Amino acid sequence: MGTHRAAGLRAAEATPNGPSVGVVGGGIGAALSLLRAGLDVQVYEQAPMLGEAGAGLQVSPNAARVLHRLGLADALARTGVPPLAWHQRRWDDGRTLLRTPLAGSLEAAFGFPQYQIHRADLLAALADALPADRVHLDHQLTDLVDQGDHVQARFANGAHAEADVLVGADGIHSVVRSLLFGPQEPHFTGCVAYRGLVPADRLADLQLEVTAQLWMGPGGHFIHYFVRDRRLLCFVAILEQGTWTRESWTERGHLANAQAAFAGWHPQVRAIMAATDDAFRTALFDRPPLPRWSVGRVTLLGDACHPMLPFIAQGAAQAIEDGATLTACLTAAGPDIGEALSRYERLRLPRTSRLQALSAANKTRLHLPDGPRQQARDAELATGTTDWSVGTVAWIYEHDPAILDLARSPA
Ligand SMILES: Cc1cc2nc3c(=O)[nH]c(=O)nc-3n(C[C@H](O)[C@H](O)[C@H](O)COP(=O)(O)OP(=O)(O)OC[C@H]3O[C@@H](n4cnc5c(N)ncnc54)[C@H](O)[C@@H]3O)c2cc1C
Repeated sequence: MGTHRAAGLRAAEATPNGPSVGVVGGGIGAALSLLRAGLDVQVYEQAPMLGEAGAGLQVSPNAARVLHRLGLADALARTGVPPLAWHQRRWDDGRTLLRTPLAGSLEAAFGFPQYQIHRADLLAALADALPADRVHLDHQLTDLVDQGDHVQARFANGAHAEADVLVGADGIHSVVRSLLFGPQEPHFTGCVAYRGLVPADRLADLQLEVTAQLWMGPGGHFIHYFVRDRRLLCFVAILEQGTWTRESWTERGHLANAQAAFAGWHPQVRAIMAATDDAFRTALFDRPPLPRWSVGRVTLLGDACHPMLPFIAQGAAQAIEDGATLTACLTAAGPDIGEALSRYERLRLPRTSRLQALSAANKTRLHLPDGPRQQARDAELATGTTDWSVGTVAWIYEHDPAILDLARSPA
């Protein structure tokens, strides 16, 4: 069995800046926040490389706040595309249900812009900022033992490591979560996402505006926006489906199923799907909020503890916020790691639980069949008092996760 000599320091050897931290999972979350704060961080990722098959990500101002502070403003501005408006439309005739002009207004309201970005571009920026010797690829966590004064982690490749704190940032199927709280299958939400990227020049005839467009229809919705300096258009087609037998981020093909289901939709929606070479299909899972995230010196972060439907585009943003709050709690803490983790959890859990519930409720709202409830929804949308209007997202976007104020955490 191999051991990483550099992989985490024992408590007695901890740096003056705080405890050593092992982060399981090299996704969006925490490692860079922890590292920038001067903590001794090691990342253990099961994949042979960091990065992910292509798709888009909306980085809202609350996430941009954290990423800018981590020094990624230039990287975001280089390839990220700020939307000029949010445009919500009807599925068949394309009628505008709500158009929220954005140019500069999110930055004016919240201090930071919104970016539409290729996931691979964001992950590359995060990976570039992490020294290579902090990241241990091909390390799949299989077991952990909390020894009271430190945590031991074991990996499928035979390696093991020690740290003062272990963070499970290992996604919806989190092994760390299972080891802490027992195995529990995630809940299939009844929704399947087809995600694709289209070279923008193939869609020139459509003269698409640089907006994030969300088309609502019976049993599904469709989103598209530009990424990678407007050279690619990303789309996500969401369909309701009764069952699912497999969960994967990288299952190719099957776009024909989505095209058949969207056959009666507006020509723009169909043209975008027709222009892609390839698409990925993934089933969408979530979990009810956990009552707690931490046991002893081990805690959870991101989809490992609060997976949510992507229907308010906050999953990655919340993982990024988690990282900032966890960092602030660990650096502010004295020697009592348990108290720091408990404070982190008390600060984060109400907010992420509320967002999980909102995302789940959007499944119904966005997919209403035509009829009285859909008409009531559209009338409400027109008032600008629902989601995707600047006023109603304020509580999400204005949040500063580095401020450790329990009174600011919405219940
Ligand atoms: C269709 C779709 C669209 C979305 N759009 C948005 C959006 O616009 N904005 C937004 O904010 N969010 C969005 N999300 C949500 C977002 O993708 C997730 O919330 C986010 O990726 C969660 O990050 P994470 O780091 O917690 O987990 P993950 O991204 O799942 O990363 C977990 C990492 O842990 C690794 N891992 C797993 N098990 C182990 C192990 N045992 N040992 C070591 N490593 C392990 C994995 O390989 C992976 O690299 C969307 C999601 C979907 C499905």
